[in-house]
Amino acid sequence: MSKVSIIQCRDYELDTVRAALKAALEPIGGLDFVSPGMKIVIKANLVSMMKPESAATTHPTLLYALSEMLIEKGAQVVVGDSPGGLYTSAYVNQVYSATGLKKITETGAKLNQNFSHTHADNPDGVIVKDLEYTAYLDDADAIINFCKLKTHGMMGMSACVKNMFGTIPGTYKPEYHYKYPKHTQFADMLVDLCVRFPQRLVIVDAVTGMEGNGPTAGTPRHIGALIASDSPYACDRICAKVIGLNESELETIQAAEKRGLNDEMEIFGNVDSFIVPDYELVRTRKETDFGHGHASLIGGLVGKLIHYALCSVPDVQKKSCIGCKKCMNICPAKAIEMKHKKPVIDRKKCIRCFCCQEFCPVGAMKVKRPMIAKLLNR
Ligand code: SF4
Ligand code: SF4
Repeated sequence: MSKVSIIQCRDYELDTVRAALKAALEPIGGLDFVSPGMKIVIKANLVSMMKPESAATTHPTLLYALSEMLIEKGAQVVVGDSPGGLYTSAYVNQVYSATGLKKITETGAKLNQNFSHTHADNPDGVIVKDLEYTAYLDDADAIINFCKLKTHGMMGMSACVKNMFGTIPGTYKPEYHYKYPKHTQFADMLVDLCVRFPQRLVIVDAVTGMEGNGPTAGTPRHIGALIASDSPYACDRICAKVIGLNESELETIQAAEKRGLNDEMEIFGNVDSFIVPDYELVRTRKETDFGHGHASLIGGLVGKLIHYALCSVPDVQKKSCIGCKKCMNICPAKAIEMKHKKPVIDRKKCIRCFCCQEFCPVGAMKVKRPMIAKLLNR
């Protein structure tokens, strides 16, 4: 049985955070597994060069407080992630600065400076049979997954399972999108990574989450919670409930369910009291499945037309676009061309991975949900 705790944490003041972390960890066994000299990697969510106030990354004060607790127990702590983009010292250190992480070193924790990759076979993976991953993870005696609760253009929600995509070096991520273009395949890939890199503890920064055009260009939304668990799958189920998503809408939860990873949960705390009823979601799955359903029933061209008419797609807001070409450069399907300094998307090539939406620096790429899908889902 998995244990999950959910505790109030009103803000990111250090004293508030210290008390909330202690309270969240205590019912699920705290840091009892940590022994002196143990090497702990805290796998944060550092998706991009974004300030803590944007609510795209794990808040540095939480990482600071957890590092303090681990170091008090005699652990050696390394905080790391592979953001989107280059996995190099120059780039990732800029991300550390922008996300406020440099301060963490005051606790004695280190920020990962090993930017090499490792290639390994993964015979137990359901879909990922071999992988290229960030080598610093090999030094860990235990991994703590400390993620942020956000909406996600492709997968609906980013929390524990999605955070493990950061085990893949940034420049390899588009390749994974291309290799696993269907949402169900992508979810299976994420669960494979989650199983390949088991986490001793997972903690979700849901003090201020991100709603709307997540995971980078959405709006910060106060939730006021810290969620902790010994299982990333159980923790994601509670996260989904808090922001008003049904488990059936999330492929990652469904992929875990198929593998028998969603066991019973012992819950500490009142989940209902943290539910945000009007959390602005990115709904991506229903219309897709509905489209596939029709496609298989009707078949051929008509089915495909219905499918396209119901799928969410990336959509450029030309007025906000600054013509930086980041979307074009990151697109794994090479579906974007610049015309008159604005991106134009070839819908036939687009695999709806929403990398362009995730990495647009000004939020000019949105998830567009067709009107017909909105009406049908109502
Ligand atoms: S256009 Fe955007 S959503 Fe489509 S494949 Fe390219 S990056 Fe992915
Ligand atoms: S990444 Fe955003 S701002 Fe840059 S060209 Fe694409 S849509 Fe425009």
